[in-house]
Amino acid sequence: MTYLIQGDTGDWEVVIGLEVHAQVSSEAKLFSGSPTAFGAEPNTQVSLVDAAMPGMLPVINKFCVEQAVKTGLGLQAAINLHSVFERKNYFYADLPQGYQISQYQHPIVGEGTVILDMPDGTSREIGIERLHMEQDAGKSMHDQDPKRSFIDLNRAGVCLMEIVSKPDLRSPEEAGVFVRKLRSILRYLGTCDGNMEQGSMRADVNVSVRHPGETEYRTRAEIKNVNSVRFIMQAIEVEAARQVETWEAGDEVVQETRLFDPDRAETRSMRAKEFAHDYRYFPDPDLLPVDLDQAFVDGIAAALPELPDAKKERFIADFGLSAYDAGVLVADRETAAFFENVAEGRDAKQAANWLTTNLFGALNAAGKDIAESPVSAAQLGELLDLMADATISGRIAKDVFEEMFETSKDPGAIVEEKGLKQITDTGAIEAAVDQVINDNPGQADEVRGGNDKAIGWFVGQVMKATQGKANPQMVNQLLRDKLKG
Ligand code: MN
Repeated sequence: MTYLIQGDTGDWEVVIGLEVHAQVSSEAKLFSGSPTAFGAEPNTQVSLVDAAMPGMLPVINKFCVEQAVKTGLGLQAAINLHSVFERKNYFYADLPQGYQISQYQHPIVGEGTVILDMPDGTSREIGIERLHMEQDAGKSMHDQDPKRSFIDLNRAGVCLMEIVSKPDLRSPEEAGVFVRKLRSILRYLGTCDGNMEQGSMRADVNVSVRHPGETEYRTRAEIKNVNSVRFIMQAIEVEAARQVETWEAGDEVVQETRLFDPDRAETRSMRAKEFAHDYRYFPDPDLLPVDLDQAFVDGIAAALPELPDAKKERFIADFGLSAYDAGVLVADRETAAFFENVAEGRDAKQAANWLTTNLFGALNAAGKDIAESPVSAAQLGELLDLMADATISGRIAKDVFEEMFETSKDPGAIVEEKGLKQITDTGAIEAAVDQVINDNPGQADEVRGGNDKAIGWFVGQVMKATQGKANPQMVNQLLRDKLKG
């Protein structure tokens, strides 16, 4: 679907590139042994290296390097066996070194690809420009005291992967799908928890606009540190509209860093955009270049888990699911595993339906995610089995499921306890059918007179009389035999 903004001078398209900062799931920082746990007391996870005491030397954390390589492989990207840490020099209160150790000319990961599955069934390939490793900065706190600001260095030195997309995205929706897909891949890989509320994933959003058909990009603005998918989409929308207005008023969009204010739904200028040369990058003399051997990379590649795209293809091929259902089920690794456990050896489409409709519905209403589900995969599987062997009807199964969700009890136990077994004994059903026919001679005559719709009414009455436990097919057959036979 093409996203176009209608202006006075014609249509405008929006060009978007993202720089996503993803925190590596590592217990120690990139160049020190300090812990990285979220939510610790301020300045309790700061070593002399993180605080940039004179004479301290950084030592690279091999685990972090592995995670960056793993992520690169997951993004189908080229791994650069030779990469270099450089100093990005700038002054800021939360940056004790006076520079950030980052990678610039020689990043550890080169070009890659992320595939977007759009809700309308189409797919888009988005290029990855690069992935480099760098340190996070500390955090300034301005809300602790009326006159003073405080600095928390717990985050200083934590390993980030900066993942830079090509300017291939063309709508807020595509940007949203991209971030969700990227997060899904990182979570499958286990290299970043993708927790945007805790700041372990945040995006800088580059936006420009142009008339369709223009070959050059116009000047872009960068919206810094947007920390939710919804905000990323909103920020693009309002920034693109602002730029269209600017161009159409005969003004120029300037290259700058802007801030998104969700409360006022607007972006505001923060500062003129720095250019790379402002940072005086140079190789960090305290660190050797990172030289990997191919066997190290191959070892990581061999141990990669199955990723969402491959899993989706397999779900379609092996379980006969629609592309849409498969996409929903693989988006989250735990959901996919849950589904596989339920579907194994059973009717996979029915399993998918129960998961996406009943279980997701109940989880949503309870504000829980699948890891907290009161119903286990084994229990849901057992419920499907009870339907498959006609122990209970589909209608009773819904009641049993509700009870399972509330109590975490096994479905077999609930059926037993509440006497919900389906009645398949012809004699018992026949008795109920006769009773209902005798009680309703008028309706019975209608059916005999040719009104087939009235049979449905009789089925309902018999089901009611048996508390939903009669086998509906048998009820239907008996009614037809008796009224029409
Ligand atoms: Mn960065």
